[in-house]
Amino acid sequence: MTTRIVVVGAALFDGDGNGGSAGGRLLAARRSAPPELAGRWELPGGKVEPGERPDAALVRELREELGVDAETVERVPGEWPLKPPYVLQVWTARLLPGSAEPAPLEDHDELRWLAPADIWTVDWLDQDVPAVREALALVEAG
Ligand code: C5P
Repeated sequence: MTTRIVVVGAALFDGDGNGGSAGGRLLAARRSAPPELAGRWELPGGKVEPGERPDAALVRELREELGVDAETVERVPGEWPLKPPYVLQVWTARLLPGSAEPAPLEDHDELRWLAPADIWTVDWLDQDVPAVREALALVEAG
């Protein structure tokens, strides 16, 4: 029997506060560890703890990793396999009013807000590529 562990990632958009349509920029985070992933870019997030709701886990991870107060907006359809037993699920998210700006407190050494034209200028983790594509499709559909 296999136990699936969900890793949640945030497609965190700035801008008009509706989760990312109309000119919102997407936050990308460059991993500093482990060595095999360092230097690659990802949607920030992490593992859901036992008994924790995935969207709550994502808010917690964004606070821990980036020092922000955020909320999830909607689930990005789909699920992407990581190294077993992990699977990646993604939510669009936005900063709450009064939140600090994101800072690379844990796991990352650089953050970048990417305008739509710049989304593919960073070296995303392989498994994040389809997730980013779906997140953009979702916000573009409005
Ligand atoms: O961030 P954390 O180390 O908790 O992530 C757990 C696993 O999920 C890592 O192995 C990482 O490769 C993967 N992950 C990912 N894409 C993300 C976030 C995490 O592949 N956006």
